[in-house]
Amino acid sequence: MSSLRMQSLANIRQNQGSTLPESVFKSSDRFGESVFNKKAMREFLSPEIYESLLEAIDLGHGITPDVARQVANGMKNWALAKGATHYTHWFQPLTGSTAEKHDSFFSLNNDGEAIEAFSGGALVQQEPDASSFPNGGIRNTFEARGYTAWDPSSPAFVLESPAGKTLCIPTIFVSYTGESLDYKSPLLKSLAAVEKAGVAVCQYFDKNITRVYPTLGVEQEYFLVDSALFDARPDLVLSGRTLFGHGAARGQQLEDHYFGTIPERVHAFMVDFENEAYRLGIPLKTRHNEVAPGQFECAPLFEEINLAVDHNQLLMDLMEKIAKRHGLSVLLHEKPFAGVNGSGKHNNWSLATNTGKNLLSPGKTPKSNLMFLTFFVNAIKAFHDHADLIRASIASAGNDHRLGANEAPPAIMSAFLGEQLSRVLDEIEKGKLDKDQVEVRSLMHHIKAIPEILLDNTDRNRTSPFAFTGNKFELRAVGSASNCAAAMTVLNSAMAQSLTAFKAEVDKAIGDGESREGAILKVLQKYIKATKKIRFEGNGYGDEWQKEAAKRGLSNFRTTPDALDAMVSKSTIQLFEKTGVYSHREIEARHEIMLENYIKKIQIESRLVGELSLTQIVPAAMAYQQRCMENLRLQKELGMNAKSSASLKVLAETIAQHISAMVEQTEKMRLARKKANEIDSTRAMAQAYCDQVKPYLESIRDHADRLEILVDNELWPLPKYRELLFLK
Ligand code: ADP
Ligand code: MG
Repeated sequence: MSSLRMQSLANIRQNQGSTLPESVFKSSDRFGESVFNKKAMREFLSPEIYESLLEAIDLGHGITPDVARQVANGMKNWALAKGATHYTHWFQPLTGSTAEKHDSFFSLNNDGEAIEAFSGGALVQQEPDASSFPNGGIRNTFEARGYTAWDPSSPAFVLESPAGKTLCIPTIFVSYTGESLDYKSPLLKSLAAVEKAGVAVCQYFDKNITRVYPTLGVEQEYFLVDSALFDARPDLVLSGRTLFGHGAARGQQLEDHYFGTIPERVHAFMVDFENEAYRLGIPLKTRHNEVAPGQFECAPLFEEINLAVDHNQLLMDLMEKIAKRHGLSVLLHEKPFAGVNGSGKHNNWSLATNTGKNLLSPGKTPKSNLMFLTFFVNAIKAFHDHADLIRASIASAGNDHRLGANEAPPAIMSAFLGEQLSRVLDEIEKGKLDKDQVEVRSLMHHIKAIPEILLDNTDRNRTSPFAFTGNKFELRAVGSASNCAAAMTVLNSAMAQSLTAFKAEVDKAIGDGESREGAILKVLQKYIKATKKIRFEGNGYGDEWQKEAAKRGLSNFRTTPDALDAMVSKSTIQLFEKTGVYSHREIEARHEIMLENYIKKIQIESRLVGELSLTQIVPAAMAYQQRCMENLRLQKELGMNAKSSASLKVLAETIAQHISAMVEQTEKMRLARKKANEIDSTRAMAQAYCDQVKPYLESIRDHADRLEILVDNELWPLPKYRELLFLK
């Protein structure tokens, strides 16, 4: 019992006794109690300030310094009453996680007396020393200042840790020259774009619509492993995934984990983190086991997208923190284990209006169904026109293991509509709309029936990356660790562009004397024809689809460096400049950051594989090989002939061969890394890491995994899959 693995196995028995939460509240009792929400605002702000703040949030108006000062004061009093001692601007830099820099409320007044202070200025803007956040060359070190600016549309909250409480203020993060350095600011810009375009199109149907905003509900998948075992796996600790590990004799083939009974220990963790989430206003609704052993999922009620993204980011932080209390470690990586399913983040996306309508939900009248179809077809058009960019927005080293592997949605972007709606689109496509209004009337009759046909639309295609599920689209290709804002910003922007073009075409047709309905149907018909190749109702995992998609001319980017090229394509730059979401410089910088990110991830994994091979796996294998050799000698001493010792000899030789191969390939990998590091262009370096370095991760692992099932169990240094995956 020498290895860390063996000690950890002994330790987990202690963790299994983790206690249930002391008390269970009704969720509604504690919902939002740590949020500076409307209730808290009414209590801590004067009625005038409360009104002007809400107005500013609703209409997106600026906030005057005086209002900011008074809001800051109210927020401070509320936070102090909650026990907070510090405040921080809370933001989402391009590292993928959230960032905070805490300042104390503590201050000294003119008489040198200690007071608690929080100014309007401190609420509205801060200058974090941000020179070490990814910036893609936007900030030179001499102008290293970036600043964070308050986003009043996402309410402040108090985060609690055993050592104290902190007031967190959601903010954007931009460079001193105004370029975005985070996920939130482009998302907010995309909201403005889709609102403007959406409201304009809504006017054809309902003059009362003055606001359109995307909604998002994120299903979050994750794995849980015992912390003691997690700590004994440097690959999990440093890269988030297992770089070695032979599959357990039993993986997910029995299909008994999905929706199975939640283990008690996991249940205790879930209850605990859900309660924390409720207090922070995160409306969690669903929890269940996922397909792979040790894999779980949670999902909230959907919310306005900016809030939903903030909540998902906060949720990930929260899960990691709270799991520790239960002796568990959360794995948010897209593919923590080879051979079992990876994790994604299903982004359920729709558009809602100030009148309470879901624009992707059909209504009762033909007119409202035409409105539904308008947004539905425009969403397909948006997805079609920028499918490569959507693929780029979800690309990461982690997600590469998922997309294109035989489990998650394929790397080919296609949309699933369900049989009934496909048929409706086919009918419209066939309509001879040029001649007379008769066709328009008959099609409107068809459209009238949509709600009935959708009622029994139970179509569920789990293999599609972008599926319509009755009243929303579900983008399933987003990686479990990523910030949803990246993909959602693209989808919103593409939708804005599509709707704007649609409006222009419909207006033109109306100007040419068409009826409004006729004009709308005609442009929809055009879009339906133009987007056909992106529609696919079949099995997205099959080889036939790969061939069919290639025939249709759909892209199939299997690796991140290739996929990311679409970020800087002509159509992308046009899209973002037109919608005002990214400047050319910003998107170039972001492309650079994503490439750097990819390089660093592979570099870390490669170093880890080298180190663990030479310092843990090879030594264990050598020790066992030595034992085999001793035993061979012993057999000889006992007078056994070569024939009866043959299989032991083969074992010793096999081990020796794997050892040699590992040592040799580790050195080759190091040289490949060295060569890649000398490349100047980031794009080319990423390609070199992808083509020259990454393959060694697989081949070295292959030898190690074979050794794992040959070498003495007690000598094996890393916790095994069978130990990691089955929580009790
Ligand atoms: P499933 O997709 O498995 O049928 P649900 O219907 O519960 O599951 O939805 C999954 C997620 O989709 C939930 O987070 C839910 O809140 C969200 N969702 C439902 N309606 C909308 C909508 N109009 N806009 C955005 N998300 C939505
Ligand atoms: Mg779903």
